[in-house]
Amino acid sequence: MRLTILGRSPARPNPGEACAGYLVEGGGSRVLMDVGPGVVAQLLRRNTPDELDAVVISHMHTDHCLDLITLRYSYPWIDVAKNRLVVVVPPGATAQLAELALGAGFSNFFDKSFIFVEHDGKRPLEFGNLRMEPDETQHYVRTWGFRITARGEDEDPERVLSYSADAGPCAALPRLADGAELFLCEAGLRSLAEDDAAPQSRGHLLPSEAATVAAKARSKRLVLTHIPMSTDDGTWALGEARANFEGPVEIAEPLKTYEV
Ligand SMILES: [Zn+2]
Ligand SMILES: [Zn+2]
Repeated sequence: MRLTILGRSPARPNPGEACAGYLVEGGGSRVLMDVGPGVVAQLLRRNTPDELDAVVISHMHTDHCLDLITLRYSYPWIDVAKNRLVVVVPPGATAQLAELALGAGFSNFFDKSFIFVEHDGKRPLEFGNLRMEPDETQHYVRTWGFRITARGEDEDPERVLSYSADAGPCAALPRLADGAELFLCEAGLRSLAEDDAAPQSRGHLLPSEAATVAAKARSKRLVLTHIPMSTDDGTWALGEARANFEGPVEIAEPLKTYEV
């Protein structure tokens, strides 16, 4: 299985970078996980949109879904009704997609290109031999992270790639990260002053908290993402995380591919 970082920015983007977007390849399938602003331009460096088997949206915050509009513009303009791209969205998101289409100028904007499917929040998503198990996290809107596995000739179905999506401290995180080969975890906070300090009402993590989850869940490797950076390169986050997790920690690097 392979993970490629297309974008790692939080909603206020890091200079020159795309918001959330991660390409997952394995089990004979290629799935784009989240498609925030700027992600499609990065995708096009290596794939055409018709090489995707599906798009999966973790939640409907714009930094994770707004480039669906751009993806539609990049999808073949001809009548592609027979090969519409499957876009899996959270339960109840269809109404927001209708608003997004109107925002693009046409109520039927997506219709010839995409098939929207709401997942049920529980059952695994299957794309060929790639499997994504959703687990609901604590965030400001309903959000699902995923445990991802692949089957195939060169795949070990025991190796897990986990994605936290956006999350505050919650019980789903250790389940997601449990024994993961690679735990791609958000660390959207520089300090608790940036959010409600009460853990039960927070929607993001400190790097130290992401690392504590990875340590307790015995993840093998931690890759931090969604980190706010302006003039710095996020080194501060690495230091905080390394104090709480003994395994390898790094910051998600745009366009880097990680073998899982
Ligand atoms: Zn976000
Ligand atoms: Zn969010």
